[in-house]
Amino acid sequence: MCGIVGYIGYREAQPVLLESLKRMEYRGYDSCGIAISENGGVTVHKAVGRVVDFEKTIPRSSGNTGIGHTRWATHGEVTELNAHPHSDCSGRISVVHNGIIENFQKLRDELTKQGHTFKSDTDTEVIAHLVEKHYQGDLVQAVAAALEEIQGTYAIAVVSETSNELVAARKESPLVVGIGDKENFVASDVAAILDYTDRVIYLEDGDLGIIGEDGIHLTNKGKDVQRDIQVVPWTVEEAQKAGYEHFMLKEIHEQPKAVEKTLTGHLSSIEPMAKLDIGQNAPAFGDVLLLACGTSYHAALIGEYMLGKLCHISVRSKIASEFHHIDMVLDKMWVIGISQSGETADTLTALKKAKAAGCFTIGITNVRGSTITRLVDQVMFTESGPEIGVAATKTFLTQLASLYLFAVSRATL
Ligand code: GLU
Repeated sequence: MCGIVGYIGYREAQPVLLESLKRMEYRGYDSCGIAISENGGVTVHKAVGRVVDFEKTIPRSSGNTGIGHTRWATHGEVTELNAHPHSDCSGRISVVHNGIIENFQKLRDELTKQGHTFKSDTDTEVIAHLVEKHYQGDLVQAVAAALEEIQGTYAIAVVSETSNELVAARKESPLVVGIGDKENFVASDVAAILDYTDRVIYLEDGDLGIIGEDGIHLTNKGKDVQRDIQVVPWTVEEAQKAGYEHFMLKEIHEQPKAVEKTLTGHLSSIEPMAKLDIGQNAPAFGDVLLLACGTSYHAALIGEYMLGKLCHISVRSKIASEFHHIDMVLDKMWVIGISQSGETADTLTALKKAKAAGCFTIGITNVRGSTITRLVDQVMFTESGPEIGVAATKTFLTQLASLYLFAVSRATL
């Protein structure tokens, strides 16, 4: 899982981009890079390895508009040439991308025939050349036209020599826009920009954002759209190590508080049952299907025991990525999708399938405003705060607390 960031505003972009990239290191990456729009051109620097080493090697840029990337290679080896940002032939346009362009080979062959020269082995580079192909002085229009030709998944941020805007877009890869005062941000993850703002817009699939210093304009399929601004309930301190040697240790120590916050308001000291306003308009409570990936799937497996034992119903857990290949009668089932980030692509796809089949869907997630919260019929939030450590600790435990809460609220004695 890589990370993309973007900045436009009154500060120098370079230190903001580098700090934001460091905040996303927990997602894992093999190489990194930045592109800054300055002096009527775009300066690109990239390297294999860590951001802390990379930043020591690059000269200071003074531009106020830029994009950055930590790569997790899918197409092309881990090399400096394959690291992002990728540029068009002229070097006037640069792109960072998270995701996979499925039809990149066909596009690359066509663009090569049209005279474009490729420098990397990545799927991403086709985006830069497509934007160049459509560019006639209007970056937004050129990015929109380029995306029309692309099949696959993406979160992208694009800069050009004109430096008065960033263009960002998403399809099935997460992307948030951070709103500041005379500055705006783009990031794969709110943790990257918490130092600068707690006001964000989660882009939806098909959204194209034109991000200026003073404003954000969103469109979807060519039409203007408005998205709610969410205030992230996390502090910068929560996303820092606070004296601990590493994040995982800090997050283990945060577990009791996180579980307490998740349960607060739902348990009573006098009543034996849990209070949970879930399923008011739902079909009768019956069979339950739990869908998740990775650590969340392990929470689902334990949830299966809890629900079976307390509610005396039939419960099954499925790995969300395999759900696509399973034929099951889903009608009127209760389906619970579990995703810490609320952006796990396979879990979202599986929930869409369940919803289309008429199921009542519940999402358990740690992130307000994330995609899962817009997809499901009802949401249960785990109140863990940001989890930066790669191994899930407090979020796993709060997922269990949420499942237990759900099971107790539906328990038959
Ligand atoms: N598919 C792109 C590449 O291999 C992007 C990978 C990523 O999401 O980091 O360069």
